[in-house]
Amino acid sequence: MTLLFMSEWDSAGEWTRDLQAFIPDLEVRAWPDVGNAADIDVALAWKPPAGALATLPNLKLVQSLGMGVDHIFADEQLPEGVPVARLVDPFMAMQMSEYAMLWVLYQHRMTELYTFQQVDKQWKQHRPRPTDITTVGIMGLGVLGEDAARKFAMMGFNTTGWSRSEKSIAGVTCFHGETGLTPFLNGADYLVCLLPLTPETEAIINRETLAELPEGAYVINLARGGHLVEDDLLAAIDSEHIAGAALDVFQDEPPAPEHRFWHHPKIRMTPHIAGLTNARTCAEQVAENIKRIRAGEPALNLVDPAKGY
Ligand code: NAP
Repeated sequence: MTLLFMSEWDSAGEWTRDLQAFIPDLEVRAWPDVGNAADIDVALAWKPPAGALATLPNLKLVQSLGMGVDHIFADEQLPEGVPVARLVDPFMAMQMSEYAMLWVLYQHRMTELYTFQQVDKQWKQHRPRPTDITTVGIMGLGVLGEDAARKFAMMGFNTTGWSRSEKSIAGVTCFHGETGLTPFLNGADYLVCLLPLTPETEAIINRETLAELPEGAYVINLARGGHLVEDDLLAAIDSEHIAGAALDVFQDEPPAPEHRFWHHPKIRMTPHIAGLTNARTCAEQVAENIKRIRAGEPALNLVDPAKGY
């Protein structure tokens, strides 16, 4: 029984070391050096090559190397019936909330304006909009969205959230379902996307939904590039309906050199670093899943293939 590590972005050596701290005799192979494919019972994967998982006849678990699983369900040949588990990492939730708070405060406290003023040696005060009448709206109230929502509420922002099912979170006004989307958008001065990418949420930030945001709203996408229709965002910023955006994820990563985002004065970009997977904090839960699968028990943090998250 062998684990197959499948990622060009994470370190096989680091993961092997951290997993062997919990399972000393764990055998790990790194894609594409599969050896005898029949030995592999668990794949630990980030963006596995299409069709690769289908070549493993005794696969019992696909463990995502991220909190999202869209990169696994994107494989049209994903073997049916093999359970898929995701990471659930409080350390990553902390990173994601930090990222959302960074860009909300960056815009809310006019950081860019003061940076330009410093360059011009200009001493001019601007009054920020009061925090308690500024609304941060979080799309997705799962592990990440709930953590961010609680933190914005603690900071004193009027905080709202939108999810598929009904939620109750102290200090957060919660909307849900299709009927909840428009009222949620209508109030959101900051729109923070923390949804999973599924057929239902793909392209959800588009011309129509951007138009429902208040004039001068700011968009922060740290979920997946597929949630945002990039041309619609550019048009909404160009028309000055949307004040700007901070984006960590993109349709193509990296975006093409000629993409307007690179030099747009109202768009801030980061290279998909809002929440980086960390072997140090995640190895224990992956090791636990390997032990469970080998003992014939269900893995933790399994996702629902029908929902796609
Ligand atoms: P999660 O715990 O599965 O929560 C997902 C939330 O989205 C839930 O509240 C869910 O509603 C809601 N949702 C799903 N489909 C919906 C729909 N059709 N309409 C309305 N709400 C819907 O996910 P998570 O752990 O918070 O992670 C969210 C995403 O963040 C991941 O899937 C991943 O893509 C992304 N991410 C990005 C980075 C990065 O570095 N940029 C890092 C980590 C994760 P219910 O609660 O009602 O089911």
